[in-house]
Amino acid sequence: MYHSPKAGSRLTFLSCSACGKQYDAHHLNTFATCCIKPLLVNYDLRGAPGRHILAGRPGNMWRYREFLPVINEANIVSLGEGFTPVMQVTKAAAEYGLTQVFLKDEAYNPTGSFKARGLSMAISKAKELGVVACIVPTAGNAGGALSAYCAKAGMKATVIMPAITPQIFADECVLHGADVLLLDGLINECGKKAGEISRETGAFDISTLKEPYRIEGKKTMGYEIAEQFNWELPEVIIYPAGGGTGLIGIWKAFIEMKEMGWITGPLPRMIAVQSGNCQPVVKAFDDKRGVSNSYSGPAASVANGLAVPYPFGLDLMLKVLEESGGMALSVTEEEIVAGVREMAIREGLLLCPEGAAVWKAMIKLKGSGILQGAEKVLLINTGSGYKYLDQVMRQ
Ligand SMILES: *Cc1c(COP(=O)(O)O)cnc(C)c1O
Repeated sequence: MYHSPKAGSRLTFLSCSACGKQYDAHHLNTFATCCIKPLLVNYDLRGAPGRHILAGRPGNMWRYREFLPVINEANIVSLGEGFTPVMQVTKAAAEYGLTQVFLKDEAYNPTGSFKARGLSMAISKAKELGVVACIVPTAGNAGGALSAYCAKAGMKATVIMPAITPQIFADECVLHGADVLLLDGLINECGKKAGEISRETGAFDISTLKEPYRIEGKKTMGYEIAEQFNWELPEVIIYPAGGGTGLIGIWKAFIEMKEMGWITGPLPRMIAVQSGNCQPVVKAFDDKRGVSNSYSGPAASVANGLAVPYPFGLDLMLKVLEESGGMALSVTEEEIVAGVREMAIREGLLLCPEGAAVWKAMIKLKGSGILQGAEKVLLINTGSGYKYLDQVMRQ
């Protein structure tokens, strides 16, 4: 029998993010059925190797494989995701009195967004656990990523997206061979439908935080940030939050690295940015209620990745904001479009609207004194601007 090399994963078990109940990591799991909350992945970090293991490894997210869940390297479904560049924003930041602004550009990922990280991980692990068909509700980018990784893995993909999503997001899925279903309503409606189809057909539901592994892919951003900043983290990280996997994942990476002694000292304040059109995290943070049904008034956004009215991981997002001393704030649709234009013309960067929201939020935070001019700030641009050009040009 052919044995392929082990990935060296230190995976141990899954646990309920609310009560800690353990779940078997060697079986296919969705969410924690005990509390109806997301599952988190645990690793044996005692006696973990030091940072020196990274030397000479390829520049993609699998360089952190000991702290990723895939057991057998042969199951890795990769299109080269991760290790995206960090660059300094100079001219435009100086104008607002900020001297240490950096941007991590996730546009460099396959399929044009950081969704590639989560879907590469989820599809790899699904393959390892015997899955042959997957389904995902999406505001756009997750569908393209699922379709591409399923094509690579030889799995069947089904994507459900709001009918108002720009055509390009459906086209890329179709080109990768996925079945695409368009629905009235936002991603929460698509999520309900995905659940139904999953129960009827057996297709594995890869909805945000309703399976344990997308967050492990997004987590690699946290490892990269530490490595790229030479193990001295920025003071503030500003992130455009939709379902929240990136926010939760980056923070999870910091906690793991701290436990292993890979990083020391204070961790960054984590700041979540949303659109004024759809801001459940901002509302819950301001109310300190943290109840996922406390929000009403969902609406679409040009930053479609942020149009998530009822995020399943809301509690986990609020926990990150509180533990890190961060906060949540929103910007308007007009500010988002103005932000795309401003960064394009001043910095040569074609941000996605979600990334532009982060840029505008940073300026607001500086204006209100929450951010100091000399603080080291990292902005996450979560995707390429190209898929959104039609929409931006029409506004
Ligand atoms: C999905 C998405 C987001 C939001 O990411 P979450 O992990 O769901 O918070 C932000 N920006 C872009 C471009 C996205 O595709």
